[in-house]
Amino acid sequence: MDANDTIPFSSPWLRFNHFGDKLNAAFQRVASSNSYILGNEVAQFETAFSQYIGTKYCVGVNSATDGLTLSLMALGIKPGDEVITAGLTAPATVTAILQAGATPVVVDVLDATLCINPAEIRKAITKNTKAIIPVHLHGFACEMDEIMAIAAEYNLFVIEDCSQAHGASFNEKKLGSIGDCGVFSFYPTKNLGCMGDGGAITTNNVSIATQLKALRNYGLQDNIVAEAGINSRLDEVQAAILNMLLPALDDYNESRRKYANLYHEGLKGLLLRLPPMDSNAVYHQFPVRIENRDKFRDQLKKEGVLTGIHYNKAINQHEAFKPYCRPLPVAKKAAEELVSLPIQPEILDRDFEMIVDKIKLVLSQ
Ligand SMILES: *Cc1c(COP(=O)(O)O)cnc(C)c1O
Repeated sequence: MDANDTIPFSSPWLRFNHFGDKLNAAFQRVASSNSYILGNEVAQFETAFSQYIGTKYCVGVNSATDGLTLSLMALGIKPGDEVITAGLTAPATVTAILQAGATPVVVDVLDATLCINPAEIRKAITKNTKAIIPVHLHGFACEMDEIMAIAAEYNLFVIEDCSQAHGASFNEKKLGSIGDCGVFSFYPTKNLGCMGDGGAITTNNVSIATQLKALRNYGLQDNIVAEAGINSRLDEVQAAILNMLLPALDDYNESRRKYANLYHEGLKGLLLRLPPMDSNAVYHQFPVRIENRDKFRDQLKKEGVLTGIHYNKAINQHEAFKPYCRPLPVAKKAAEELVSLPIQPEILDRDFEMIVDKIKLVLSQ
């Protein structure tokens, strides 16, 4: 097999290219609009996305990292306040807490879903705890009923990190509509991804939404800055692309679930631990676990199948985050074993059977 036959792990261009003339029209519409920042495309997307998630408000921002920071700011989180989050996540989640000036408290995850362990949240609560950021990792929901109960008991805010969970749900509610705020990333490889950086915050609370709109735009509200903000706006080009993609999101997620089920059928009985089967998940990744992970990945690569790892470090294995972490044995063990198999619909529509065959071949060697 030569290099040209290699199956990529992700390919946003295949998704964009599929839209052809519509993609060109989106660019043209923005170019000729003469309004490039906080114009019609952003307003239209905010309305459509809040309807899709089922919240009253949506505020477009530059990234999920900023979205998390801005949510903490809008909720009044201050230096000295503690924010509890998960030990297996994108470094961005923890960076965002530090960027807001608060103190992260990082706790371990559940072995089954690799989402934050509610029992560990309880143990980490102090008089300084103000908020919880559950991360819906790989497109699976956190234990939101338990988390919301803990938050109610201790009077804590909940900010859902939905960067990997666009369209996933828990008890019939879309993720991002359960906590005080839901934060989404539109990084190109996410389930809903644009052609650069982008993010959004969903909320049902009008005063949080109003503050977020000021905070993303220097802090300006009615020409006055009462509280200093930052510059973190979703731009018109990215919003136009998101307006094009959003109507297709449910189909993309349905394809991801279809392929997840086919992986479960095709790979059962092998020396791989498969992720949960969950019809409410959106399989941002299809993470399998295997001892000798690096060898497995190398062998697959030689067979022309590229894979990813999400993530190869628990949060306490990053120098900058060590001081903020409780012991993370479950996250660390997962970080040694995880391999993400290709799950993007655009890729699997062409090559799914070949990928399964190559995995079987490699595991029989
Ligand atoms: C991608 C991601 C982020 C960061 O998103 P950006 O838009 O790049 O800032 C944060 N949290 C999680 C769980 C992510 O997957």
